[in-house]
Amino acid sequence: MRVLVTGGTRGIGRACVEYFARQGDRVAFLYHNRADLAEQISRNTGAMGIRADIEKAEDAKRATDAALLALGGIDVLINNAGISQIKLFTELTDEDWSHMLNTNLSGAFYVTREALKPMISQKSGRVIFIGSMWGKVGASCEVHYSAAKSGLRGMTMALAKELGLSGITVNCIEPGVILTDMNRELSEDTLRELKEETPVGRLGTPEDVASLAVFLASKEAGFITGQVIGVDGGFAI
Ligand code: NDP
Repeated sequence: MRVLVTGGTRGIGRACVEYFARQGDRVAFLYHNRADLAEQISRNTGAMGIRADIEKAEDAKRATDAALLALGGIDVLINNAGISQIKLFTELTDEDWSHMLNTNLSGAFYVTREALKPMISQKSGRVIFIGSMWGKVGASCEVHYSAAKSGLRGMTMALAKELGLSGITVNCIEPGVILTDMNRELSEDTLRELKEETPVGRLGTPEDVASLAVFLASKEAGFITGQVIGVDGGFAI
C-alpha cells in the first residue's frame, strides 16, 4: 500500500509511519518544524518526509501532491497532524481560534481533498482522521480544540456517505490521553489523575493508536466506514 501520514515526526503519527513501514508499505509523511526528526525517521524506516504547514491551503496541497508523485498514488491517508492549547475560553484570541481550527480541521480538509483525487479515480482508498475523545465529551479550557475535533467527527460521517460507492472508507480514531509531546506540559499530578480516571488504569501509547490505524487501513476493514472509534482505555464511555 502507499500510505501518507500527516504529522509523522512525533507521537502517534510517528508510530503510524513505523508500523506501516514495518509491514512493507511505501510511506510518506508530512511534518512542520522538526527536519532533524524527519531525517532520522527516513533513515530508519525508508519513509519520505515532506515539510509543510498544513494550516496553509497552498502548502498542504503542494506537499500532498509531492507525496502523490513520490509514492505514485495514495491508498491510505492518515490525517494525524495537530496542535493543542490550554486556555480559558474568554481569553482565547482570534488568532488562537483560527490557528487551532485551521491546523486541526482545515488542514485535514486541504490534505484530504487533494489525496482523494487518485483514490476516487482508482475507486479504492482509506481515509483515517485522528480526532480526540475531547471532540466527543468536550474539554474544559480546550474549547477550540474540542470544536475542531468535533468537526472531524462530522467530516468523517458525511464523507463516508459521499464516498461509499467510490470504494473509499472514512473513519475517525479518537484517542484518549496518550503519552506524547502534546502532553509534555501536564504535571505529574495531572497525569496521575488522568490515569486514575481511565478505566483500564493506564495512559495510552502511540502504538495503541497506530495499531487501530493499521487495521482500519487493511483489506479486512473494508466494511467499516463512517465510524468514530475511541482508543482511550474507556475514558470517554
Ligand atoms: P505531537 O505533538 O507529538 O506531534 C504533532 C505532529 O503534528 C508533529 O509531527 C508535528 O510536526 C505535526 N504538526 C503540527 N502542526 C503542524 C502543521 N501546521 N503542519 C504540519 N504538521 C504539523 O502530537 P500527538 O502525537 O500527541 O498527536 C497527534 C494527533 O493525535 C493530533 O491530532 C492530536 O490532536 C491527536 N490526539 C492526541 C492525544 C494525546 O493525548 N497525545 C489525545 C487525543 C488526540 P513537527 O514535529 O515537525 O512539529
